[in-house]
Parts: sequence; C-alpha cells; structure tokens
Amino acid sequence: MKQKKNIKKYILVGLLCGLVACGSVLVARHKAVNKVSYTQFLRDIQNEQVEKVELSNASTLKFKLKNSDTVYTTDNPRKETLKEALLLNNINVVEKAQSDTSMIQYIISISLMIAMFIAIFNMVKKQNNSRGKMSIGDKKVAPHALKHGFDDIAGNEEAKEQVAELIDFMKEPEKYAKMGARMPKGFILYGPPGTGKTLLAKAIAKEAGVSFFSVSGSDFMQMYVGVGASRVRELFKTARKEGKAVIFIDEIDAIGKKRSSGSMQGNDEKDQTLNALLTEMSGFKDDEGIVVIAATNRLDTLDDALLRPGRFDRHIEVGYPDFKAREQIIKLHLKNKPLSDDVEVANIAKQTVYFTGAMLENLLNEAAIYAVSTGKPCIDQKAIDTAFYTVVAGKEKKDRSGISEMDQRITAYHEAGHALVTKLIAPENSVTKVTIIPSTKGFGGFSMNIPKDKMYMNKTELLNSIKISLAGRAAEEIIFGKNLITTGASNDIEKASESMRNILLRYGMDTSYGLVNLNVLTGKQTVEDEAFITRSVKYMGDLYEETKALIIAHQDKLEALAESLIEKETLNEQEIASFF
Ligand code: ADP
Ligand code: ZN
Repeated sequence: MKQKKNIKKYILVGLLCGLVACGSVLVARHKAVNKVSYTQFLRDIQNEQVEKVELSNASTLKFKLKNSDTVYTTDNPRKETLKEALLLNNINVVEKAQSDTSMIQYIISISLMIAMFIAIFNMVKKQNNSRGKMSIGDKKVAPHALKHGFDDIAGNEEAKEQVAELIDFMKEPEKYAKMGARMPKGFILYGPPGTGKTLLAKAIAKEAGVSFFSVSGSDFMQMYVGVGASRVRELFKTARKEGKAVIFIDEIDAIGKKRSSGSMQGNDEKDQTLNALLTEMSGFKDDEGIVVIAATNRLDTLDDALLRPGRFDRHIEVGYPDFKAREQIIKLHLKNKPLSDDVEVANIAKQTVYFTGAMLENLLNEAAIYAVSTGKPCIDQKAIDTAFYTVVAGKEKKDRSGISEMDQRITAYHEAGHALVTKLIAPENSVTKVTIIPSTKGFGGFSMNIPKDKMYMNKTELLNSIKISLAGRAAEEIIFGKNLITTGASNDIEKASESMRNILLRYGMDTSYGLVNLNVLTGKQTVEDEAFITRSVKYMGDLYEETKALIIAHQDKLEALAESLIEKETLNEQEIASFF
C-alpha cells in the first residue's frame, strides 16, 4: 500500500515537472508575441524606422526599431533581394544560420522534460530497490536485542513444549545430522490474532540465540509482479549470511491461500512469491540451522502445496488462553504495575473468557492509563472495570445529554432482557455487568455475559445462546409494542444467525435438516439452498417465540432490572444477582 502511494507521489512529481517544462515552452513563445504584418514591416522600412534586422532561413525574422528595445517579428519572405533592400536602406543586417529560437526553445524544453523523466524514473527504481532491502534489514533483530524469551510467554505450554526440540536443533544442528535426524524446515503457528504467535516465534530465536527476520505476507500484496519473489530471495540470502536464523512470515495466508476451485485465474504475484518461498525452503540443507516459522489465523485456508512434507509440515496451535493461562498472563503484565489491594487477579481471569493475550495486555494497559489520568497511586477495581468496558465496547461516551429519555428506556429494557434470560436459562454463566452507558463505538449499552470455560458446547447451550441474543429485541417488543422495535438488535441478530448457520451447517444438529455439511457437499462457499434458508428462518422464529414467552412469565423481574438501570446506568454482578 505504502509502495503504491509512493509511486503515485512520483507520478505526481513527474507530472508537475512536465507541467513546468510545458510552462517554459509557453513562456518562450509568449516573448515573440510582438508580431507585425509584413506590410507594416515594409512601411517601417520606408519611414526609416528600422534599425536592425536578424535574417535567417526560419519562417519569421526579427527586427528592432530605432529608439526602442522591443524586438518585433514578422513573416520572412525568404527572398535573396530582401537583404540587399535592407542594406540599401542603411539597416543593420545580422545573419543567423539557424535563428529559429522558438524551435530551439522547444527542443531544449522537450529534452529537459525527457531528462527529468529519466531522472525520476531512476529515482523511483532506486527507491524501490533500497526499499525492498531496507524493510528486510529493518525487521532483522539480533538475538541480544530480542526482548522476550520463554519466561515472557504465559500459558501456551503445549506450544512451548513442541518447539523445545526446535530450539535444541538450532543450537546444535550437527548433533541431529549425525543421528540422521531431519528437522522440519517449516513450522506454522496457527490461532486467533493476539494469542502470541509472534511472541512465540521471537522467543524461539532468543532462546536459540539466533537472529530473527520477519516479513508479513500482506507486505507482498499490491506489489508489482516479481517484486515479492525477489524480496523472498533477498530475505533468505540475508538470513543465510547469518548462518543460523529464524525467518518469520506473518499472515502467510496473504500469499498462501487455497485457490478457490471456481476460478482458473491465478494471481501472478501471489503465485510467484509463494513459489519463490517454496524453492528457497527446499534449497537449504537440513543442518543449516535456518528455520522458517509462519503464522496464520486459520490453517484450513492454506494451500496444500504449503503444507506438504518438507515444507511447512509442523503445525502448532496457539489458542485462546484458559483460566489458568489468563491468570498467568495477567500476572506477567502486572509485573511493572502497582496494584491496589481490592483487585484480585483470579477475578479478572474469571471475567475474561475468550480474551486473548493481546486483549489482556490491552486491558491492563488501559487500566494503568486510567489510574494515571485520575491521579490514583495504583490500579484499583474501578480502573479495571473502566478498562474492561473500553476493551469490550470502546470508550464510554462522556456527553450523554443528547440521548432522549425514550432511547434510554428502550436500551434499559433491551439490556435487561439479555440479563434476565441469561439468568433464567444459563445460570452457570455469570452476568458481570449490565450498562446503558453508550460507547463511542456505537453500542447503546451492553450486558456482559460470561460463559463457563469449557471444551464443547452442547445443543441446548447453543440454542440458549441464541435465545440470549434474541432477548433484547424480545423485551423491546413486549414493552413497547411491535411497531417500536429498534435497530439496536442488529448485532444480536447477526450473532444469532451465525450460531444458527453453524448448528445447521457445521454441527449437524438439526434432524429435519440432516447430518450434512452443505459447503462440503456442494463444494461451494456460499449456501443458496432454499430449504436451508426456510429452515433457518422457521427455527429462529420458534426460538424467538420461546424467548418472548419466558420474558412475559418473568415480566416483573424485567421491569425491576430495567428501572434500576435507568436510575443507576450500570449494575454490577452482585446488584444483578440481588434480583434473583
Ligand atoms: P499474534 O502474533 O498471535 O497476533 P502477538 O504475538 O503479536 O499475537 O501478541 C500480541 C501481544 O499480546 C504480545 O506482545 C503480548 O504483549 C501479548 N500476549 C499474547 N499472548 C501472550 C502470552 N501467552 N503471554 C504473554 N503475553 C501475551
Ligand atoms: Zn442486544
């Protein structure tokens, strides 16, 4: 993207130079504007007004009048007799071999333009070359400069264990070679963004005491064909010079995605880059001590060519941290932060199901910033709560004067609906916070519902989660009527639809629909099957009716919760529990 911008800049500069050059041509022509007719010129001669004439073979001739510095031009009849006539009239005649100056100016201007374009072209080329090298050099980190080792990664025990051998191999590749053992050349770390894949790759380099080279697959996008491939070769060349090294390729899917079966057309740049990478990987020997680590959010989207033996054949999952891992990550990131006695690490860990390491780090950082901004000596529970809101929903909107009372009531009933249904059908979940404070990200409020950490979800739990999503809209309809339902439920409906799709399509949980995965069955990425859509709409409608019935049966609780929200704006876990 940057590259493209720069090229645009040069084209702009080029155009400007072109304009300046054209401008100079225009100016040069303007100088000769004092043109007079040939008869006027003859009259001037007759009146003995002409002092000097410049003759040439050009189409025009120049002349000067007595007592004036102005240079005039007129048509050149190109007659031999003209010179004699002039001389006979005592006029000073100067002969110029090629005096068509405007022509010369044209030529000069045009050559200048050409020269400028060549200079600019060379500049761009040079920039591109050095850019390619620079960004690779830029992202090289020597082992002593790597900040984080294994001790700075909390949790992820399985992943750490799996790479322990790799580190040993990089330290003593000869040992493995002697035994005839071959180390995998390529590792893929896969898992959601922010779970610590980059962190792990860097730690591997640090622990092994080798340099770390990194590049991102997305850097190769938007490039000219061939540039990506040559950058890959350059990267490996530089890494080889180090002897041993870790080469990290982030977002490998940007160049290594499976080609969709429908389209025959490939993307040249992507293919060339990918091929260059595979060629380089098969090029180095087993005992060289270079390891390529790639990261992706989804392993299943990668091209099979990448995953074949001898290429990226070791796959290591870096997943969401569980309760214990979260506790460790929190402790790690609290190391340099003063903490108030009222904060319990285990409590934060409990409330942060589905948080990644990066989100936890962000949470504690936001809390620290909040503590500083409020002039507190340490991070207290209030700071954590505020940061929690920020990480989940964006910053709280400070100015809430513009929100009408009606909007506030609707939000209160909507959020109370979510909280009520959660408490009724999923008591094992904790509802840690319900608020009607809108966020700058556009949420009207939210109800924080934390499911239990667990391996699988059963069908009832999945259906319950849909009902919880639908409960906001259901409460709106029950209290304000069918015609006053709002757009506030759009996110909820999106989430519910996603779960519904999974139930029908991936989990094979609906008997009337069958035990098939339509995507696999039809080989298409999208499902246009009518039966699928009809079934989904009907299923969702039934769940919505059940949710409404549940709320109506407990309407007194809904009203109590909502009215309390209108009064206090936010309710915490204990306050919510007190209604049940
Ligand atoms: P990914 O590459 O998976 O997107 P990163 O490695 O860039 O994630 O992680 C971003 C940040 O999140 C790290 O710099 C670190 O501060 C924090 N983090 C993520 N996972 C962990 C972990 N397991 N232990 C400690 N910190 C972590
Ligand atoms: Zn909602």
